[in-house]
Amino acid sequence: MNKREIDEVLEWMWMSREGSQADNSNDLAECDRVNITDGILADVEAAGYILRRGNEFVFTPKGESEASDLIRRHRLAERIVVDVLGVGGREVEDTACEFEHVIAPRLTESICTLLGHPRSCPHGLPIPEGRCCREARQSVESVVVPLSALKIGEEAYLAYISTRDYPRLQKLISFGISPGIRIKMLQKFPTYVIQAEHTQVALEEKVANCIYLWRGRRQERRTPA
Ligand SMILES: [Zn+2]
Ligand SMILES: [Zn+2]
Repeated sequence: MNKREIDEVLEWMWMSREGSQADNSNDLAECDRVNITDGILADVEAAGYILRRGNEFVFTPKGESEASDLIRRHRLAERIVVDVLGVGGREVEDTACEFEHVIAPRLTESICTLLGHPRSCPHGLPIPEGRCCREARQSVESVVVPLSALKIGEEAYLAYISTRDYPRLQKLISFGISPGIRIKMLQKFPTYVIQAEHTQVALEEKVANCIYLWRGRRQERRTPA
């Protein structure tokens, strides 16, 4: 049995325990599922990820941590697909199911930080915490908010621009609005006016709502390397 099949079993067990397995509209329901048979469960047990207890299986510590990582990657992938790429509907799961297997584990924390340590996936299911989330909680509030949430005079750093409208994206980039720059809110009404590094830019509300910023200390910014 290959690693991918083991992953599918661990995710399925995690979701059964969480009670989200029953809802077919959620999460992993759309992924290519392995057909979980007694033989496959016996193989996963032999690999040290699960243990039989009476009629059911439970995770070993190794299985628990592996399953938590997988679910975390899948749900962070969903957030990227929905929040950053602006994808909706059926494409969400198709893309997220592939993403979870291709995101390098060492990039997970960077992605989580980029997204502001989200607590739940777009389906509302909890994202298991990583070390980055625990560290962020102990330090100054560090969350990603839409530009429109900034108060007048408040500064933050651009995390990402969520739009599928490429001409709009190009236009923003031509104003120097790109990830990592510092933004200060100058005016919110009748239009948004921001200071983006050395340039002042006026933005409509719908544009301001696609720009996401980090509030918090600058050293917490980490972009995928
Ligand atoms: Zn989800
Ligand atoms: Zn995190």
